[in-house]
Amino acid sequence: MEKITPTYDDIHSIIKDTYTKISEFNPDVIIAISGGGLIPARIMRTYVNKPVFTVGFQLYDKDDKIMPNIKKTQWLDDEIIKEYIHNKTVLIVDEVDDTRTTLFHCVEELKKCCSPKNIIVTVIHNKLKQKKHLLANDVIYVPGTETGDEWIVYPWDCK
Ligand code: 5GP
Repeated sequence: MEKITPTYDDIHSIIKDTYTKISEFNPDVIIAISGGGLIPARIMRTYVNKPVFTVGFQLYDKDDKIMPNIKKTQWLDDEIIKEYIHNKTVLIVDEVDDTRTTLFHCVEELKKCCSPKNIIVTVIHNKLKQKKHLLANDVIYVPGTETGDEWIVYPWDCK
């Protein structure tokens, strides 16, 4: 599989440009999907200037096999939901949209539990490939940049 190796500077610029497309929606809060969404969400906060909360999902088992059901490993406190998510415009940030499984489940869980007013989803890279899921029609999807089906080695992956 081909590899691409974006730098921290590349990623920062992509996120800065993406913010110009997101700003019109005035997000109230940022949800980072752990762990790949943590650094992108922190960079996005520099522009959005709203609180960041973190959620986590486990998609692969210890043998790197996809699990039949995605597992929620981290979620939002009831108090946080009431104050920051319910009836608010929520910006979900992850690093990459590959099969779209993680993003789909994150959106579905948020809709189920927290009745946000609007959901915006952003990633640094959207891989142009067949997805396993569709995002709901009312979700605003703003990918930073599009790539082929290649492996992205993020700077934080480097030892
Ligand atoms: P999904 O298939 O749910 O869209 O992506 C699942 C997860 O696989 C992503 O959040 C990411 O952690 C990982 N992933 C998928 N493609 C890549 C890639 O090209 N590079 C890296 N570093 N992680 C990836």
